[in-house]
Amino acid sequence: MSKSIMVFIEQNEGNIANVSLELISKASALAEQLGTSVTAAALGSGLKNKLVTLGSYGVSKVYYINDKKLHHFTAVPYSKIVSGIIKEHKPQIVLFGATTTGRALAPRVASALKCGLTADCTGLEIGDFDSKKKIYCNKLIQIRPAFGGNIIATIVSPESDPSMATVREGVMALPEHIGSEKAEIVEKKNPLCETDYMTEVLEVIHREKLVNLKSANIIVSAGMGAADPASLELVRQLADTLGGELGCSRPMVDSGVLGKEHQVGQTGITVRPNLYIACGISGQIQHRAGMSQSKRILAINKDPHAPIFSIANYGIIGELNDIIPLLIKAYRAKV
Ligand SMILES: Cc1cc2nc3c(=O)[nH]c(=O)nc-3n(C[C@H](O)[C@H](O)[C@H](O)COP(=O)(O)OP(=O)(O)OC[C@H]3O[C@@H](n4cnc5c(N)ncnc54)[C@H](O)[C@@H]3O)c2cc1C
Repeated sequence: MSKSIMVFIEQNEGNIANVSLELISKASALAEQLGTSVTAAALGSGLKNKLVTLGSYGVSKVYYINDKKLHHFTAVPYSKIVSGIIKEHKPQIVLFGATTTGRALAPRVASALKCGLTADCTGLEIGDFDSKKKIYCNKLIQIRPAFGGNIIATIVSPESDPSMATVREGVMALPEHIGSEKAEIVEKKNPLCETDYMTEVLEVIHREKLVNLKSANIIVSAGMGAADPASLELVRQLADTLGGELGCSRPMVDSGVLGKEHQVGQTGITVRPNLYIACGISGQIQHRAGMSQSKRILAINKDPHAPIFSIANYGIIGELNDIIPLLIKAYRAKV
C-alpha cells in the first residue's frame, strides 16, 4: 500500500473542529483513488474517545499525543510535534484546515520539512503531472483562486514529499452518511521538554457569536444594491421572516454597512445553506466562491445580465424594494 494521507485534527478545548471532519471526508475520497489509507495527527488531552469516532469518517489510525500542556494550541510546540509525526510516518499528503490554527501551524511545518504547501485550496484531486519531460504520477493537484480570484490556479509540488495543503472550513462537504468503524489510536509520548514551551495560555475568553452563517439553513444576503438603509431593512425582514441569517457581499463590509461576520465569499465565509437568497448582489467570482455550493439559489437583481443569474436556480429581475415585500407577504400568507 502506498503512503497514507494524513489530516491534522484541530481541536478547540476538546471539541474536534468541523473542518477536520470535512478534510477527512475529502482525504478518504483521495485515498480510495490512491489505494491507501487515511491517518490523522492529534494533539491535546482527554481526546481519545472522540478520536476513536474518526474511524466512522474514514480514518484508520490516529497518532495521538495526549498531554495537558497541549490542550491549547501554541504554534511552536505544535509545529515541532506535528513535524516529528510526519517525519516518522511519512504520509504522501498532509491536510490542514485554513483556520487561525492551521494558518499558524502548516507554514511552520512546511518550512521545517522543506516541502510544498498550498494555502486556501478550493479543490483537491489526484492526477499526473509532466514537467521537463518527466512524468510525475498520482500527485496532489491543488486548485485555488489566484490573482484576486480572477484565475483558478492548479498547483502541484511534484518533488515535495509530502505535499501539504490547507482548506477553509465549509469548502469540502461533510459526508452525508457515516459508518460505525473505530479508528486505531496510537498514543505517543510528548517529545518536548520544558524549554520548548515559549508561551502559556492562561485563559480563553469567548465572545458570543451573534451571526452563524455556517450552520444556517437559509441565508438572505444583501449586496450593494441593498446598501441604503430602507433596502437593507427589507433584506433583514426577509431573513427574519424565513428564519434565516443575514449575509452580505464584501463591499457592504468594506463600506461599514455590515460587520465582517456577515461576509460571504472568498475572503469571507464559505456557506452551503439549503437556500441562499442574493439581494442586489452582482455575483462576482469572489462572492460566488463562498456560496455557489448552496443547494438552492434565488437571485433578485434589476440587471438581467448580472452574473449571479448564471448560477441561480431561480431568478427575479426587478427592483428589490418592490419584490421583497411581495415575497414576505406571500410567505406569511402560506404559513
Ligand atoms: C481579492 C478579492 C477578494 C474578494 N473577496 C470577496 C468576498 O469574499 N465576498 C464578496 O462578496 N466580494 C469579494 N470581493 C469583491 C468582488 O469582486 C465584488 O466587488 C463584490 O462581490 C461586489 O459586491 P456586490 O455584488 O454587492 O456589488 P456590485 O457588484 O456593485 O453589484 C450590485 C448589484 O446590485 C444590483 N442592484 C442595484 N440596485 C438594485 C436594486 N434597487 N434592485 C435590485 N438590484 C439592484 C446591480 O444590478 C448589481 O448587480 C473580493 C475582491 C477581491 C479583489
